[in-house]
Amino acid sequence: MKYPHGKEESAEYLRRALPLMSNQNAALHPISYAVWYEYVAGMNATLQHAIDKLLDRRAPLDERDISALFERHIADLDSDAASGIAAGFQKILGEIAHSTGVAVQDADTFGDLLQKLSHDCESRNGVIDLKMLLAGTQVMQTSIATLKTRLETSQLEIDRLHKEVARARDASLVDGLTGLVNRRGFDQKLADCLADTAAPAQTLHQGPCLLMCDIDHFKQINDTYGHLFGDKVIRAVAAVIKENVKGRDIAARYGGEEFVVLLPETSLQGAQALAEQIRHAIEKGRIRRGSSEEAVARVTLSLGVARYQPGEAPATFIERADRALYLSKQNGRNRVTLAAAA
Ligand code: GH3
Ligand code: MG
Ligand code: MG
Repeated sequence: MKYPHGKEESAEYLRRALPLMSNQNAALHPISYAVWYEYVAGMNATLQHAIDKLLDRRAPLDERDISALFERHIADLDSDAASGIAAGFQKILGEIAHSTGVAVQDADTFGDLLQKLSHDCESRNGVIDLKMLLAGTQVMQTSIATLKTRLETSQLEIDRLHKEVARARDASLVDGLTGLVNRRGFDQKLADCLADTAAPAQTLHQGPCLLMCDIDHFKQINDTYGHLFGDKVIRAVAAVIKENVKGRDIAARYGGEEFVVLLPETSLQGAQALAEQIRHAIEKGRIRRGSSEEAVARVTLSLGVARYQPGEAPATFIERADRALYLSKQNGRNRVTLAAAA
């Protein structure tokens, strides 16, 4: 059970969480409550730190902030991966406990032996049974060597499990079809990027910028050629986007046939040029169906480009890019539109 607090204690947390929760712009749903409950109960240090940092920069928090906090600091790993890893740690701890128990027992026996020898020594005018002492010492040595080996292998096993935890975390942030970051991963990267963008307004002309991209008439592609081919188109578009971004840029699959690119250090002109480059690369590319030589109808992409405005909520930043994308669609598709300032 994650929440060990009794009725009285949890009622106190409820009393403290309610006003904090009501002060934000997010609805009062269970996800909001989990965030503020863990905050006031002081049971989640990284969550507390993240909220304090966010509130320092701007308040109130909106729906996207709350859901990002929940995903990042409260939601569990994939439950199969998590229980496998927990079982691994449990097994190691059990084995260490066993080896330590054996070593403690051997040490006790050795202690008894030393006592006996010391007693014998007194009664035999200082003569010690060296053979017995040597045998006892050897048992102790073996026992300690076993414990040492056990601890060393446990250390290796623990390192392996740590890597597995990191891999499981990363896997939950990657889109299986394209290998790009998924929406959840993107929300985290965007939050990290904006947290780094605490610079004054005049230094912000270099970004961050955002490209919102959506494949044109994709439903028609699915309807004409089938879903499997639709998937192939999504992968091909992802590959083109991936080829065109570099360094700290982050390309993500934001939804079905929607992609987003975050450019932390690119000016609006630079972002617009990149958007045109991607649009053009998609337009001139041809995706073949299976072994057939027949080239399919053109695939095109519409894009919206926005530059971050200081103090803007991540959701507003995305919405502006999205609105620009919508204008590209309205004005005939296969084009790039710059977002208006808020
Ligand atoms: P528009 O130019 O206005 O964007 O039109 P559209 O047809 O691309 O947009 P719409 O939103 O009507 O359709 C998107 C389609 O994408 C609907 C959905 O079935 C399909 N889709 C979403 N995810 C996937 C996926 O993972 N694979 C495939 N093959 N299709 C998907
Ligand atoms: Mg769409
Ligand atoms: Mg579309």
